[in-house]
Amino acid sequence: MPLWSNWSGRQQARPVAVPFLRSEADAQALVRDAAANGTSIRVAGAGHSHAPLVISDGIIADASGLAGVIGTDTAARRAWVWAGTPIYALGRPLHDAGLALKNQGDIDRQAIAGAVATGTHGSGPALQNLSAAVTGARVVLASGETVDCAADAHSDLWQVARLNLGALGVVTRLQLQLREAYKLVERGWSEPYEALLPKLADLIAANRHFEFFWYPYNDTAIAKAIQETDAQPVYPLAEEGARCAWNYEVLPNHRPHRHTEMEYSVPAGSGPECLGAIRELIRRDFPELQWPVEYRTVAADDVWLSMAYGRPTVTVSVHQDISVDEEPYFRACEEIFLSFEGRPHWGKVNYLDGAQLAVCHPRWRDWWAARDQVDPDQLFLNEYLRGVRPPR
Ligand SMILES: Cc1cc2nc3c(=O)[nH]c(=O)nc-3n(C[C@H](O)[C@H](O)[C@H](O)COP(=O)(O)OP(=O)(O)OC[C@H]3O[C@@H](n4cnc5c(N)ncnc54)[C@H](O)[C@@H]3O)c2cc1C
Repeated sequence: MPLWSNWSGRQQARPVAVPFLRSEADAQALVRDAAANGTSIRVAGAGHSHAPLVISDGIIADASGLAGVIGTDTAARRAWVWAGTPIYALGRPLHDAGLALKNQGDIDRQAIAGAVATGTHGSGPALQNLSAAVTGARVVLASGETVDCAADAHSDLWQVARLNLGALGVVTRLQLQLREAYKLVERGWSEPYEALLPKLADLIAANRHFEFFWYPYNDTAIAKAIQETDAQPVYPLAEEGARCAWNYEVLPNHRPHRHTEMEYSVPAGSGPECLGAIRELIRRDFPELQWPVEYRTVAADDVWLSMAYGRPTVTVSVHQDISVDEEPYFRACEEIFLSFEGRPHWGKVNYLDGAQLAVCHPRWRDWWAARDQVDPDQLFLNEYLRGVRPPR
């Protein structure tokens, strides 16, 4: 049996097969065959989730052969892209069409469908996550049929597709709402946490993107502010914190250090207090921690399962080395996050059961009802998702 492993190596599976999908016809044939044999399917993106989303002892389909930009509509500022396209491979062709993602995360190694499936986000109080950019999707359902969904066509399926946890079917194409190409200039600096905190609200309001990592061992923040600019791009690109170039050259970073991560989204107004509580916890109970805590902002959206559904959001992420048992630290953090009405990042670690997730997500049952209609036999669920689904 093949071995499938995620980016950190902490999630491993022994699926019966890892077929490589090169076309929608491949996806349809795979789904029909698996359904006939009663073998469950999970689709893998780039394997960058810390959560056990891809894990399966059935089939893990590799969708990375479905790659590239299918077509752009510069006037509408939209593009159809193949689902397995790495985010790094979107930047240049979109740019050549005068277009750009409005925002993206810390890294650009994820497949676009993988990032969308978990609500992957960057930072910026006026900028939504990638799921909110999805205006259309094509999905191979458990029946083997292909459906095109959008706000005005199969709208419930579209809502599920926008943040789907890989549970709707094989997503083969996505249509994304973009904006005109733009350049960014970034400024990175370091200062004591106590000095940064009083300026936090102003820094968030004054910059298109603002984020910082707080390092417990020296109580210092490494901050980054990014603004749009008309300045000429500077090549070769400078180090992170000093780049001036096109959006897709400035926003992604190199993050080679293997770690595992928990992230919660809290109402934006609670962000500083929540971070303060995490800081207190670390200083009191985990003083040896070497890994930072990250603080970002995300605009509210209307994506059913989004961590930012209906509320402006601050995200607080905690990290641990892969050689260390993260559970005591993460569980202590989770207790604090929940006390601030936090919602867990779908691609990162959490310990919530289905009842707790239902409390976090007002549209939890709607999401499951729409999903179940097209996959009544649970072909696209794995053990984790079966464990958290609401009782029928
Ligand atoms: C170093 C690092 C940095 C990160 N930075 C950020 C960040 O800045 N912001 C943030 O929000 N998150 C971040 N993440 C989390 C990451 O963006 C998410 O976990 C994302 O879902 C990973 O995408 P992937 O392509 O690796 O998908 P995978 O982890 O492989 O899969 C994620 C989900 O997508 C589904 N899926 C993938 N492709 C398809 C398809 N074609 N059809 C149906 N389902 C599919 C899978 O079944 C699974 O449910 C980071 C993770 C790492 C390891």
